[in-house]
Amino acid sequence: MDSVKFLLPEDRIPKAWYNVVPSLPAPLPPVLHPGTKQPVGPADLEPLFPMALILQEVSTEPWIEIPEPVRDVYRQWRPSPLYRARRLEHALGTPARIYYKYEGVSPAGSHKPNTAVPQAYYNKVEGTKRLATETGAGQWGSSLAMACAFFGMECKVYMVRVSYNQKPYRRALMETFGASVTASPSSETDSGRAILAQHPDSTGSLGIAISEAVEVAAKDASTKYALGSVLNHVLLHQTVIGLESLEQLEMAGDYPDVLVGCTGGGSNFAGIATPFIGRNLEGKAKTRVVAVEPAACPSLTRGKFAYDFGDTSHLTPLVKMHTLGSTFVPPGIHAGGLRYHGMAPLVSHMLDLGLFEARAVQQLDAFAAGVQFARAEGIVPAPEANHAVAGAIAEALQCKEEGVSRSILFNLCGHGHFDMQSYIDYAAGKLQNYDYPAEEIAAALAGLPQV
Ligand SMILES: *Cc1c(COP(=O)(O)O)cnc(C)c1O
Repeated sequence: MDSVKFLLPEDRIPKAWYNVVPSLPAPLPPVLHPGTKQPVGPADLEPLFPMALILQEVSTEPWIEIPEPVRDVYRQWRPSPLYRARRLEHALGTPARIYYKYEGVSPAGSHKPNTAVPQAYYNKVEGTKRLATETGAGQWGSSLAMACAFFGMECKVYMVRVSYNQKPYRRALMETFGASVTASPSSETDSGRAILAQHPDSTGSLGIAISEAVEVAAKDASTKYALGSVLNHVLLHQTVIGLESLEQLEMAGDYPDVLVGCTGGGSNFAGIATPFIGRNLEGKAKTRVVAVEPAACPSLTRGKFAYDFGDTSHLTPLVKMHTLGSTFVPPGIHAGGLRYHGMAPLVSHMLDLGLFEARAVQQLDAFAAGVQFARAEGIVPAPEANHAVAGAIAEALQCKEEGVSRSILFNLCGHGHFDMQSYIDYAAGKLQNYDYPAEEIAAALAGLPQV
């Protein structure tokens, strides 16, 4: 029997992150100031981010060196394993070769520490005392809380209320790492109070929680803001996933015909996909790349590619992205990490350039796929990761129908050990599918800023 597990030695942790931007056939549309509608410069972002991250945000260098102190922390769980899903292949009766990169081996249980650690590091080096952030499902909040603990900084987390109520263990994890956690919308900020005045029982959204965290950072000189997805520097840090996968597939003597990832803000997808998209662009490969998103929050498949705000209270710059409108509050699906109204500008731009395809999956289909995966492979995926599993299974079944053996790689971006309530609800038949909320999205899109 061939191997099912491909492990790299510690010294193969990448020494540089890969930036696909300079290889794209068209440049990224500029980020605009919300007042002047002119492109923002590095100085505009200084109240929120350390300069090292601002420079990465606008970098056109293909490779950016990973600082040694960051690689030292990565060593705790990286390189992460790549598996061949033999038992899943067998269960599906597919001739496809299915591989998954497993990011659930990080201490926080997902890919998020790949960027939390460098973000905390660069802030520490530039003298930041406290980081403020938002979190949906709690994956990002716990990752940043851990990274802040490593580098001796305070961490303030605004947690989307529906997740705060659904996921008490995530909150406990953040607090164990030393973070202070508040349910969002909260009465601590102007943004939160404005939402509560209009919608006293708001379930919250990432857009609202971002407004609260940005407001806190903008008002306090010793506090900066950290975002767990969407921004170029976040996607950049996640490329360790794809870079390691390239080497591990070489060990396996294979190369993906199809690559699948789930998309919330786009970071784990870009992390696994851009090194492969880069090879496609160099003419060295022809991997078909597929992004899978929830049907309840379909920014790539049903959103508009337009300039919009990253947050609900309109404190952020304007970015061109696939958006459902910054005031759209997605239905309370269990894949909390995928409940964001927008999509990373870089991922949106690559979709516009035709460099990958997008499809939407219903919540019940995602959970059915996750349960099937768990029974075959022994890992319970995070509800977000279930979307990637569903996409990979669909591709494998397509191979079966066509009677061809293609190689499929997907990113298993996290485990679901803190999300078991969603599996309890699924097993009890309490989860439901959501139709695309067309009217609400139309209303939110009507409010897009004029650019
Ligand atoms: C945060 C999160 C996501 C969604 O964020 P992306 O930036 O799209 O990766 C998906 N899966 C897991 C496990 C997460 O923690």
